Amino acid sequence: MPRIVVIGGGAAGSALVGELLRPGRPTEADIVWLVGQRAPGRGIAYSTSADHHLLNVRAAGMGLFVDDIGAFLRYTAARGLPVKGADFVPRSWFGDFVESSLARLVSESRRPGRLSVQSHEAVAVRGDATSGYTVTTEDGERWRADAVVLAVGALPPAPLAAVAPEALRSGAYVTDPWQWPTLAQAPERVVVVGTGLTAVDVLLSASTLWPHAQLTAISRHGQLPRTHASHPGEPYPHQQELIDAFEAEPRIRAWLRTARTTLADEDVDWRAVVDGLRGATPGLWRQLDGTERARFVRHLRWLWEPMRHRMPPQTATAIARLRTQGRLKIVAARVLAVSGEGPLDVRIRPRGGEIQRSLTADLVIQATGLTTLAEQTSHRLIGQMIAEDVVRPDRLGLGLCADAQGRLRGADGGAAPTLRAIGTLLRGALWECSGLPEIRAMARVIADDLARELAAPGRRRLGAVTTGTPADDGKRHRGFDADRDSSHSGH
Ligand SMILES: Cc1cc2nc3c(=O)[nH]c(=O)nc-3n(C[C@H](O)[C@H](O)[C@H](O)COP(=O)(O)OP(=O)(O)OC[C@H]3O[C@@H](n4cnc5c(N)ncnc54)[C@H](O)[C@@H]3O)c2cc1C
Repeated sequence: MPRIVVIGGGAAGSALVGELLRPGRPTEADIVWLVGQRAPGRGIAYSTSADHHLLNVRAAGMGLFVDDIGAFLRYTAARGLPVKGADFVPRSWFGDFVESSLARLVSESRRPGRLSVQSHEAVAVRGDATSGYTVTTEDGERWRADAVVLAVGALPPAPLAAVAPEALRSGAYVTDPWQWPTLAQAPERVVVVGTGLTAVDVLLSASTLWPHAQLTAISRHGQLPRTHASHPGEPYPHQQELIDAFEAEPRIRAWLRTARTTLADEDVDWRAVVDGLRGATPGLWRQLDGTERARFVRHLRWLWEPMRHRMPPQTATAIARLRTQGRLKIVAARVLAVSGEGPLDVRIRPRGGEIQRSLTADLVIQATGLTTLAEQTSHRLIGQMIAEDVVRPDRLGLGLCADAQGRLRGADGGAAPTLRAIGTLLRGALWECSGLPEIRAMARVIADDLARELAAPGRRRLGAVTTGTPADDGKRHRGFDADRDSSHSGH
């Protein structure tokens, strides 16, 4: 039986494992799912229990599978939750839905033991498509694999270069916006670096946790995400012509000119235009050469991201209320230095000005969005794979080099058919890759491709695991029945 090892237990790993388990897949394969320490199914985005952390996609669009987009809405209806398709609901509900979908698929899966869910972190992947791969976990276990899929999400954030070592050591500077320290005292002055969706999440949590704190959010352009309309609008009627125009001249300057002309018409709903570009984005991105991609990242990203990654109206109202109450300031500035041992001194240069000024903060939280810079990452697995030329980092710091189907490129530049990535690591290959709609589409592509690859006549079946410590039952994840029944064969 061929073996597929899926690394990462967030929504991307779930969508892929779900696809692989679905009835009707032409190829049987054992699936080893290495989920790390988090419970499988939720990942970063859907682990939150805060009701103010809402999905930024309407409920009607949040199915886990590409051919069953309405499944989440049916799930909420079956539980008597008052959800309409156009609503933005708490992310934790979606996490519940993913968990329950997986549990059902596992229990319906025909053969017990087909899926083995392991609470291990993968720390190394070695090998190649011809001889197969070996995946090593942090406790030294090794799994031989015919195919490996990296579903590890965004990379761990690294502190901004402007942060002094003593500020980092002080504990008053938080590098990971999803992991806050327990503080002895509620902070009175909180600075959030970033003003995108991650920062908005952080600001809402901080305002709830510390109702008396003064919050300041800083980014170079000081732009909050734009707001979704309360109801979905009509599609832009000339979308295809717009995409054709972009394709005809794949240069950023030309795209900007065309977009400006289009949006200058007051009858055109900019949201419809932006949303209509979403599906075409990977194709358009791949038409740009390296120079044009770099130009987009440098000059246009700041403009595109707040329009594309919008916040729900309820979230916008909550943020506006904080600003009206004087509890939140948004500052357009560059962070020059963060120093001190608490309180911290945050030195900034406001946008368009020369004069620097300082803010004093009891707590600084870095919330600059999804990290994709793979070179010198502290992610152990990705670091190893780059160091040993199994994969290559994207030149613009946008994840790993890959083709449009998530096949990862090694040192020789070839795309490996059985070494894939799904999710944020594909930013450089596709640009649009992190949201659930793109993730579920990629999950289908990879599951179909691997079924074909592994069923190919003459394909050598890999033997059992080469070496390894005895199976550690304590490390198997207890969430799914099939896991308990797993024979753990191959060890
Ligand atoms: C706060 C937030 C809100 C979002 N809201 C939405 C939304 O409303 N709608 C939408 O479509 N998209 C949303 N997104 C986009 C989001 O990226 C995707 O929807 C999805 O959650 C990404 O899942 P993932 O599995 O790729 O990544 P993650 O959720 O980061 O999961 C990756 C998992 O892999 C594990 N892992 C990492 N390395 C290893 C290793 N070496 N071994 C084993 N396990 C490992 C991690 O611990 C983690 O559990 C949101 C993203 C964030 C951050």
